[in-house]
Amino acid sequence: MKNTPDQDHFETQAIRMQADRSPHQEHSVPIFATSSFVFKNAEQARARFAGEDEGLVYSRYANPNTDEFISKMITLEEAEDGYATASGMAAVFCGTAGLLKSGDHIVAARSVFGSTHQVLTELLPRWNIQHSFVDGTKPETWHEQLKPNSRMFFLETPTNPGLDLVDLEAASSFAKTNNLVLLVDNCFATPYLQNPIRFGADVVCHSGTKFIDGQGRVIGGAVVGRADLMANMRTFVRASGPALSPFNAWILSKSLETLAVRMEAHCARALKLAHKLESESQVAWVKYPHLDSHPQAKLARRQMRLGGALVTFELKGGIEQGKRFLDALTMTSLTANLGDTRTIATHPASTTHSKLSEDERLAAGVTPGLIRVSTGLETTADIVGDICQAITTSER
Ligand SMILES: *Cc1c(COP(=O)(O)O)cnc(C)c1O
Repeated sequence: MKNTPDQDHFETQAIRMQADRSPHQEHSVPIFATSSFVFKNAEQARARFAGEDEGLVYSRYANPNTDEFISKMITLEEAEDGYATASGMAAVFCGTAGLLKSGDHIVAARSVFGSTHQVLTELLPRWNIQHSFVDGTKPETWHEQLKPNSRMFFLETPTNPGLDLVDLEAASSFAKTNNLVLLVDNCFATPYLQNPIRFGADVVCHSGTKFIDGQGRVIGGAVVGRADLMANMRTFVRASGPALSPFNAWILSKSLETLAVRMEAHCARALKLAHKLESESQVAWVKYPHLDSHPQAKLARRQMRLGGALVTFELKGGIEQGKRFLDALTMTSLTANLGDTRTIATHPASTTHSKLSEDERLAAGVTPGLIRVSTGLETTADIVGDICQAITTSER
């Protein structure tokens, strides 16, 4: 399943790499809804189980649709091998539990997705895999959390919801110096905007649920990376069963065909929104990676092709104004997701992070009036118009 990376042809690869055609020679790949695959004879059955024949055996291992999706992901991320998974969290879990063993230690950049935080703090410790958090924006402090048994450096960039960046080159050199596997969750940027492996990452995981599907229809994921690491993970992935369904794989393969054009359009809208928000009197600050005012704007231009679809800003009126803002939106969806054709707004302080104390929230970068917008693909004027009218209405 190894492919030759050639990012100069991103769109062509995302569109033209496909599963083998059936005897019908269909132009669009069909869904292979089958749990298993037939062997021609006893010798072929033996060879497949022995791993001497690459053919398909069982859809928990692989299927033409999951093969197509993961082959595209491997190519687009410039990886060597990988696995399609049933969700982004299955990818995170395979990338960590599938590569580590009891007694190992993970250094992790603090701002991680909520469920990833639970995997690190609640699940992996059950098997004595411990972690220490570092501030991803301060590479000079990372070594303070190193332990003799540190084996992995885990990070997300840009971070959620703060949209801070972790320097991928610095992360890679830290990992190499200290013999750590560098695992990057590249969900926010997508392979179109950022390729962590180019900067030295060993493994990249994705939630296909977000921008890769991009239309809020399916849950899926992928973990891709260095061939030797993927080989180490093989038994874990096959035996523990996080397989992506053929239907979801089919949706995600189709979605990749339009990822480039969708991300261009998402990012153009997000940049316009970010610029407009900078001139709103009720907004204390705006964070967007490709905005000149972003404290890491230079780094953002170095490692991200465009600034992404997410914009965060701080309402001066804190928690209460944040809630009034959500209620004042007329088009934008209130939903706990991101990466959709529909623009989505979230107010973490009153929702996802409401159970934390104010101090814990601040440590996670969740200020009281912080609003995160996942810019959709509606008409730019409608997106900007709805967000800005809701800010005005919420002023009181
Ligand atoms: C959503 C998300 C995940 C988890 O993906 P699922 O498909 O929901 O399991 C992991 N990491 C990040 C950064 C995410 O945004």
